[in-house]
Amino acid sequence: MNTIRLHDKSFKHYITANQIHKAIDALAEQMNNDLKNENLPLFLSVLNGAFMFTADLIRKMEFDLELSFIKLASYSGTQSTGEVNEIIGLNTSVEGRTVVIVEDIVDTGVTIEKLVETLNEHHPKQVKICTLLLKPDQYKKSLYLDYVGLKIPNAFIVGYGLDYNSLGRQLPEIYVIDS
Ligand code: 5GP
Repeated sequence: MNTIRLHDKSFKHYITANQIHKAIDALAEQMNNDLKNENLPLFLSVLNGAFMFTADLIRKMEFDLELSFIKLASYSGTQSTGEVNEIIGLNTSVEGRTVVIVEDIVDTGVTIEKLVETLNEHHPKQVKICTLLLKPDQYKKSLYLDYVGLKIPNAFIVGYGLDYNSLGRQLPEIYVIDS
């Protein structure tokens, strides 16, 4: 399929399943080297987009790990500090542990920065960030991204877990908006 239609928009074929899996193999090699001696790292997969990437990535991990699926919710607090973040689904203690955030894509970095700030309130030993995709031209944060699968230009993509208004998540390959 070279072009697909989701709702009102067309998307053209962009990254093959083979390219995705090669990128995951490279990430897995790095992570196996870095994390094999850590004591039961906790992988936090950020729903919804990272579900497919997470399933493929953790099958390549050669050490024991624990996996939780989380969502980041923002809501207005009652105090003047404004926005408060909450990690939904974090049922395991992270104190003193190596935590690996598994994200589908980092764009401006706002989401990942909030997640790391919120996690740090729980006093982990260290937080590592793993993202399949990064839009480097959009990324404005100073936070170091430990594991980046593929760098892509600033364009809206779908597939391999990523959606456009709920459609496209099941696609095994990645498509980019046809403008
Ligand atoms: P950030 O906070 O880094 O700007 O954005 C991160 C989140 O925005 C991702 O977790 C993802 O949900 C969404 N996002 C960013 N770029 C894209 C894209 O190209 N396609 C889709 N489907 N979602 C995106």
